[in-house]
Amino acid sequence: MSASKGQATAPLPADILVRHGYIITMDAERRLIPDGAIAIAGGKIIAVGEDADIASRFFASQVIDAEGAPVHPGFIECHMHASFQLYRGALPDHLAESDAFDTVEAQFYNTVNDEEEYLSVLLSAIEMVRSGTTCFLEAGTVLTPESAARAAKLVGIRAILGDPFIWDQPQGFAQGKLEDTESCKACASHGRVHQELKRAPKTKAEALAVMGQELRRNSHKDALVRGHVAILGLGTASEDLMNQAKDCADAAGVVLNLHQSYSAADTAADCARFGKDPLVHLAETGFLDRNIVFGHGNHFTDAECEALIDRGASIAWAPAASMMWGHGSTVHGRHAEIYRRGGNIALGSDSANWSNDFDLWRQASLAVMSAREAHEDRTYLVAEDGLEMATLGGARATGMLDRIGSIESGKCADIVIHTLDRPELVPVTNMVRGLFYSARSKSVHTVIIDGKVVLLAGEFPAFRERELLKDIGRASASLLKRMGVRVEANNIPRPERLGRQTRTAG
Ligand SMILES: [Zn+2]
Repeated sequence: MSASKGQATAPLPADILVRHGYIITMDAERRLIPDGAIAIAGGKIIAVGEDADIASRFFASQVIDAEGAPVHPGFIECHMHASFQLYRGALPDHLAESDAFDTVEAQFYNTVNDEEEYLSVLLSAIEMVRSGTTCFLEAGTVLTPESAARAAKLVGIRAILGDPFIWDQPQGFAQGKLEDTESCKACASHGRVHQELKRAPKTKAEALAVMGQELRRNSHKDALVRGHVAILGLGTASEDLMNQAKDCADAAGVVLNLHQSYSAADTAADCARFGKDPLVHLAETGFLDRNIVFGHGNHFTDAECEALIDRGASIAWAPAASMMWGHGSTVHGRHAEIYRRGGNIALGSDSANWSNDFDLWRQASLAVMSAREAHEDRTYLVAEDGLEMATLGGARATGMLDRIGSIESGKCADIVIHTLDRPELVPVTNMVRGLFYSARSKSVHTVIIDGKVVLLAGEFPAFRERELLKDIGRASASLLKRMGVRVEANNIPRPERLGRQTRTAG
């Protein structure tokens, strides 16, 4: 670091200078600064611009030289279940989604303890930071949010937590298909009574007693771990409870987050109970609003797209979650179209058996690629659109656009610095395309959140990652054992192929 000589004014102190970055600002002009620098002080970005200019105006004790590598605003994860990682990959590919709740998820919730939830969220947070995510909105499914808060604070990631399981018609993640035994033979299992989650609210009164507790975290203006209002959605809340949740979110100035229109079945169930397209109904009642963020949003009609865009609500698009279970949303969904028409699309990874990693670069890539495929148009979405969804889209969806989502003076210093020392970034013919189509999260090198360096050159300075990962592995084995889950291999025979191969070999 050096201040250039001959400046009329003395250089100002900063905490950190990031120098010589290829800065993808995501500011209003979407400026790219090929040799840029960022000055950080008090957790905030205090200046961004050409390296020579910033280096002449500021000095700092910590200088991070990006050596020409891309630097971008931290990604914002907008639909995820932070505590499921301890049974990641446990659901075999032959398991029907309709059975997943009773066989594993309910067992998980009725077995997991606070320490295991803490370790599971810790694992999620470590993965997120390593892949360039600096903030996550949890779907309101961690039984003890304090465990999630503790994990987020250790890793240093920004978290927006919700009270767990705000519902008054508990069906777990049964997706509104409880009565749906007639139309779909594959859904016959939904006729059964689902396992109860012992620690979740059972009635509206119990849900209301819990709702809003996480908002206490917002009394600190700059708190790293914040609260919002989450309801589970998928037909598990009465309209009265939905409206009370909306009032609660409005009064607190936060977002209300819920699953909506995930599968054809829960969408049909909502259509039946509202007597019309769900979002059309919710627009008429005033529920559909700028501070609503829907997880998934895979099944919308023309009228619903119109209502969503008109009211400024957000969708957290989770393309991998749909693809993992074969829901077809990347083929038939309206996310890319809504985005192109000016609606707000953020991105989400969902959970440990619905996308299996918390890498928002993967979601951004799937979003862009699948939209091109669905519309048979290479230009339908491009790299810059994926970056927009992961940063500004997420900032708007979480109600934090004034604080995060871009590299601009006055915003929180949530910054991801890559390295060019990766084969995927050689050669750099175009930085944005190189990053988006080749390197993605592989080149994440250093991550700053709230002005603190939480990942430095691939290492977490605040804790011993390798030892923690071993502890987490052991905790997972113990939990699965107590849950009584025997993890099966995939069992999907391919008799025709086998027969043909045997004949060919003979
Ligand atoms: Zn979800």
